[in-house]
Order: sequence, then structure tokens, then C-alpha cells
Amino acid sequence: MLYLVKRKEALLAPLAEALAVAAAEVKVCTSCGNIDTIDPCSICQDQSRDITTLIVVADVADLWALERTEAHRARYHVLGGVLSALDGVGPSDLSIAALVERCRNEPIEEVILAIGATIEGQTTAHYIIDQLDQLVRPSPPLRVSRLAHGVPVGGELEYLDEGTVSAALRARTPVSGGPR
Ligand SMILES: [Zn+2]
Repeated sequence: MLYLVKRKEALLAPLAEALAVAAAEVKVCTSCGNIDTIDPCSICQDQSRDITTLIVVADVADLWALERTEAHRARYHVLGGVLSALDGVGPSDLSIAALVERCRNEPIEEVILAIGATIEGQTTAHYIIDQLDQLVRPSPPLRVSRLAHGVPVGGELEYLDEGTVSAALRARTPVSGGPR
């Protein structure tokens, strides 16, 4: 221990420097909100992605949970949280307006709401469905669906195993835009 204290400068300075470099290199994607070392992020820049489908998640951790399942090769939109009256999180605190803009300007045909099944998550999903319902855009009509069975109430995506997440993604149910 004394050795460590004596060698503090020599040991900790490089570590602190490495952390500072890592922190400086981390960027938030201006398009989807993902965290990467490049902006737009590597997912947004990936030409092999399905650009007609957008998966909406609350947090970057959920995006990574979905990426691990490899169930879908879509792109994402990270909200930065969920609506919560208790915590004072309103629509303007989340990137909902940016999501609506993307749906207006990009060739998106389906929006999959992969938001946790908590009360706040459901409130957020309903709010987004409302906003997208009001969106006037050229055809094709925007389909909105949400994760179906398999996501337990109160279950957050990042804690679920990959099989459950990909099953919920495959069994998604339409909520607007198509036949209900
Ligand atoms: Zn991105």
C-alpha cells in the first residue's frame, strides 16, 4: 500500500490520462443518440442497415441489448429516458421532436417502439404514437409497432436475455398505420 502511495504519480497519471482520452473520444451521435467514437455513429453509417425501419429505445443500454440479439439490422433512435412526472421528465427533455423530424425526412416505413413495459415506458410509447399519428408526410403511411409478449411488466430491456428480446421483437404488434 505504501508502495502504491509512493508510486502514486507514476501509476495513476497514465491511467488518468487514458481515461481523459477515452472520455474525449466518446461522442453522442447527432442522428440517433448512440454513443460511439464517431458521429454519425457506426450504426448510422452502416450501409447494410435497413433504413426503412427505426427502433426506438429509451437508453443507449437498450440499443446495445438489441444489438447483441442481432435480431434486426435496423437503425435506432435513443430517447434519452422516458417520460416521468415524478422525476420531472417532460417531452422536451427527450429527443421526441427529433424522432418526429426523422420520420418526416427519412425514408422510414416502420417505427418499432422498444420501450420498457414500465408505467413510464407505456406513457412514453403512447405519447410517441400520438405524435406520429399527427405527422403529415408523403406516402407510404408510417407503421408503428411495439414489442409484444415476452417483455414482463416492469422489465427493462437491458436486463432481459437475448432470446426474450429477439422473440419480443419478432412478435411485435402494430399500433397504428396498418391494420390494427
Ligand atoms: Zn447514430
